[in-house]
Amino acid sequence: MKEELLKKLQQITEQNLLDIEAHKEKGNHAIGFYCLYAPTELAVAADAIPLPLCGTRQAPIEAAEEVLPRNLCPLIKSSYGFAATDTCPFFKFSDIIVADTTCDGKKKMFEIMNDIKPVHVLQLPQNQDTLISLPPWKAEIEKLITVLEKRTDRPITTEKIKNAISLMNRERRAKKRLMDVTKAKPSPLTGMELVEILFKTGFFADKEKGIDLMNEISDLCHKLIEGRESPYTDKTPRILMTGVPVGLGSDKVVKVIEQCGANVVAFENCSGYKQTFQVDETKDPIMALAEQYLSIPCSVMSPNQGRMDMLKEMITEFSVDGVVDLTWQACHTYNIESFHVSKLVQDTFGLPFLHLETDYSESDTEQLRVRIQAFLEMI
Ligand code: SF4
Ligand code: SF4
Repeated sequence: MKEELLKKLQQITEQNLLDIEAHKEKGNHAIGFYCLYAPTELAVAADAIPLPLCGTRQAPIEAAEEVLPRNLCPLIKSSYGFAATDTCPFFKFSDIIVADTTCDGKKKMFEIMNDIKPVHVLQLPQNQDTLISLPPWKAEIEKLITVLEKRTDRPITTEKIKNAISLMNRERRAKKRLMDVTKAKPSPLTGMELVEILFKTGFFADKEKGIDLMNEISDLCHKLIEGRESPYTDKTPRILMTGVPVGLGSDKVVKVIEQCGANVVAFENCSGYKQTFQVDETKDPIMALAEQYLSIPCSVMSPNQGRMDMLKEMITEFSVDGVVDLTWQACHTYNIESFHVSKLVQDTFGLPFLHLETDYSESDTEQLRVRIQAFLEMI
């Protein structure tokens, strides 16, 4: 049954490119997004498909290194490489790119990417003090509305933003419900299955299809939980992964952890639980979007207490036995923040902690395996 649903996910994924093409042929648009901070609701309000574009594959990195420095985060190189080699269909479909000034590497890369396709960059404040940061951030969001209206030739009315918020809130609730099935002990899903489902549904042209499919998978998982059907036992070590985002192609650490006999039950990163927020539907919609998106706890924020709070909650709720903190090479913000994360995990929770720094290549897989095996022996 689970296999059938995963097959359905694959079929919708294959159909998806045709769906996007059909949507565009009707005179509609697709908007590429590079990060979690830009509100995708605004694309939906302009009848456009929001497409998440952060690169997760090694293949285009070599081409990117002809322009970008080699000692740069692989996510940035992969993202740029896809654009430069014209090998990402979602980049190709995007009429405009919306990005934000998160880390230094990304924002400087966007200046170069702008030569390939127009990139609108939102100036993201690096502090979440609403008194200081909210007014300029709200102004950035208002500016984005004007840019998207011009590009799509559609008026983005208050009503349309409200409807888009409601739709995206439903999508995030479905995502959270799905991610929460792994709170069960033992979990009905592997970490790799979760990565695959979250990654593929992220590109769906039809949001309703994605919501229905995620709910269908969650319903099935609840049945499996009732019947105690799981690939694991009560004794399988339960791992929480935190740090940089992972997707299909940049999932080697998840794979190795699970090959070594553990189960990654939770992802505290922007490809996982950081996407589970709800935008307040009772407030002025632009203010609600500005407030909610500004509060996303990525390490580019200083300080970043929100990440510590989320970790505390998740470590308890997912009954985890250990935490793996993943940093992509040359990512200073996650690398440095690992100090506070390790203190929280080891001193407050008394749990084993492992910090790994790697890239998208397979060259260090066996070294990682040795370190992960030693870490799992501590559990
Ligand atoms: S980790 Fe932060 S900067 Fe990197 S993609 Fe996620 S939200 Fe953006
Ligand atoms: S992983 Fe780090 S260096 Fe890479 S894009 Fe995200 S914040 Fe920037």
